Amino acid sequence: MKRTKISDLLKGKGLGEKVMANGWVRTFRNDMFIALNDGSSIKNLQCVTHEGQNLKLYAGTCICVEGTLKESQGKGQDYELVTDSVTILGEADPAQYPLQPKEHSLEFLREIAHLRIRTNLFGAVMRVRSTLAQGVHKFFAERGFYYFNAPIITGSDCEGAGEMFGVSVLPHADAPKDENGAVDFSKDFFARQTNLTVSGQLEAETYAMALGQVYTFGPTFRAENSNTSRHLAEFWMIEPEVAFADLEDNMELGESFIKYVIGYAMEHCADDIAFLDARFAKEESKKPTAERSDMGLTEKLNFILHNDFKRVSYTEAIDILLNSKAQKKGKFKYPVEGWGMDLQSEHERYLVEKHFGCPVILYDYPSEIKAFYMRQNEDGKTVRAMDILFPGIGEIIGGSQREERMDVLMKKVNDLGMDEKTLWWYLDTRRFGSAPHSGFGLGFERLVMFVTGMGNIRDVIPFPRYPQNAEF
Ligand code: ATP
Ligand code: MG
Repeated sequence: MKRTKISDLLKGKGLGEKVMANGWVRTFRNDMFIALNDGSSIKNLQCVTHEGQNLKLYAGTCICVEGTLKESQGKGQDYELVTDSVTILGEADPAQYPLQPKEHSLEFLREIAHLRIRTNLFGAVMRVRSTLAQGVHKFFAERGFYYFNAPIITGSDCEGAGEMFGVSVLPHADAPKDENGAVDFSKDFFARQTNLTVSGQLEAETYAMALGQVYTFGPTFRAENSNTSRHLAEFWMIEPEVAFADLEDNMELGESFIKYVIGYAMEHCADDIAFLDARFAKEESKKPTAERSDMGLTEKLNFILHNDFKRVSYTEAIDILLNSKAQKKGKFKYPVEGWGMDLQSEHERYLVEKHFGCPVILYDYPSEIKAFYMRQNEDGKTVRAMDILFPGIGEIIGGSQREERMDVLMKKVNDLGMDEKTLWWYLDTRRFGSAPHSGFGLGFERLVMFVTGMGNIRDVIPFPRYPQNAEF
């Protein structure tokens, strides 16, 4: 007999017929009712066993059941499988299996990331993650974008922040040295210094200058020692790059993109999001009243779908922050110093959560705090940058209109003391057929956090990488 997926059986597929299901036992109640899950749905299939089958079933056991799908007499499910036979495919010794049918802390579950996916919570989060990823590709396909794969090993440091993981095959202990005593990378695998990419943007720009509209969706690495709930050392980034697009177009793209993928997940993961909504409400109720979210999860998602993002210049934002109650009462951990400062996450969240009460797009940042490739404004002080800020998350998108004027870009590169030689291919885009263009980077995990209501980025990626941790 061929197996039927539990998601189909739950809809009544095969009603009245002999069917077969495979899955892992979640619970075995009263020595009679098996709650069976095969990953196809957050909901379990109830399998009714009968005396004489003499079953010893524990949470985690993998089984194959055959029987008849019937309308259920009991509450809680429409259909159930009345079993003829139950075959054990893989035992799970209850004395050793770490997952018990009770609530475990997220910290504990992180230590068993290879098994946490068998919980309702992680099943829901990872199904939503997968669906969001498919929504990403669908959105860009519908808009005529090409999917572009940026290299993961690269010789360039896009962000200029220097927070990179080196890639080398030289021996650690006695690496070859040059005459100055520095490591001689000409003896290395690539005959040069290389690292894991921090962004695929520079390479994507070269493709936008031929294909018009491209996007990357791939892993990115940052060796930043940020032990926060929003930073990972390995995360996935989505980076569209569009020729003939200015900053306004870029903002429109970012806003439409977020709305589309959130709507896509809500449509395709309704059961999972309903579960996550209930969990979110429970978690919020444990917090002190002042810290509670005033909206439920589904409510927050709907709010994003149906409201325009507020567009505010960096200069206006600084004024708002300087005049805020939080600033005057000394509530910020990092007091607002004034124009020119980089905003801290607490400032971003103040603007979004307290002042505007909606997602905010901040634009025209001081050039000093932004990357070299952003387009200089006429005022000489600011660049055409934009960040999209989200409630509970802070920055979710960072983007800009790119500097397409060769002379202005070269001046920036020189002023910053950057190495022109390693950037020759990037500068060629400006040398040959340069065009106005824009793009942004969205941290995929921050999006997954928002949609699932999870509070820590380590719980929305299968095997998180962060300082002191690369288990699995
Ligand atoms: P932050 O200020 O939060 O560190 P950033 O300014 O360094 O962000 P960008 O370089 O603009 O971020 O990267 C684009 C997007 O990638 C960010 O908007 C964010 O969503 C995501 N991102 C950046 N760093 C990380 C990280 N370490 N882990 C997960 N996502 C990240
Ligand atoms: Mg950063």
